[in-house]
Amino acid sequence: MVKQYAVIGLGRFGISLAGSLFGAGQEVLGVDINEERVEEAQSAVTHAVIADSTDPEALKSIGIRNFDTVIVAIGNDIQASILTVLLLKELGVKKVIAKAINKLQGQVLDKVGADWVIFPERDMGERVAHMLLSPNVLNFIELSKEYSVEEIKVPASMTNQSLRELDLRARYNLSVIAIRHGRNINISPSPDEIIEEGDVLVVIGGNRDLERFANL
Ligand code: ADP
Repeated sequence: MVKQYAVIGLGRFGISLAGSLFGAGQEVLGVDINEERVEEAQSAVTHAVIADSTDPEALKSIGIRNFDTVIVAIGNDIQASILTVLLLKELGVKKVIAKAINKLQGQVLDKVGADWVIFPERDMGERVAHMLLSPNVLNFIELSKEYSVEEIKVPASMTNQSLRELDLRARYNLSVIAIRHGRNINISPSPDEIIEEGDVLVVIGGNRDLERFANL
């Protein structure tokens, strides 16, 4: 389904987000106060316009209320990001996502009505640290503070055995939801599936159990 997105602030984060949405076939309006940024963004989005998002009249004239989701990707100018979120909510935009560069900005954005506050630098730092600490973990999704799904390189000691023999459910309290052999992904592995060297298991479970398994 095609949705209408507006991305305000076409810095590194904003342009990457806007370009990815546009690449996925969505309608994306890019907005920036800086003419050069808008020029650069023209080919990466449906439309790009110069506007100051702290000016309510400018927001009204681009019809900001008609967008399903507005992402405020202004990071460094904290005052501008807060004022923009406040105005967007006052104008009745249903879903406002805002980028914060620190905790305090995040708290204020939350208070003025942001529906979702994101911390790209903080989150990416945490991800990279996690993957450095567990080199067998290739990727992960945190489901909650306690549970995650992780892509884990199979430890050498576990190859050439079937899932049944490995019995990860009993030994580690983990469930294997998919197995990646090179480019192929088996999303409903049978218990007799033999795990080969180089395979990657997609595993769901408690964070402690995942850590124990990933660090074998
Ligand atoms: P990043 O770290 O992702 O590059 P920046 O904070 O450096 O993020 O970039 C934010 C962008 O937001 C800049 O291109 C800047 O011109 C734009 N911006 C800042 N204030 C406003 C505003 N009031 N209205 C619209 N765009 C703005």
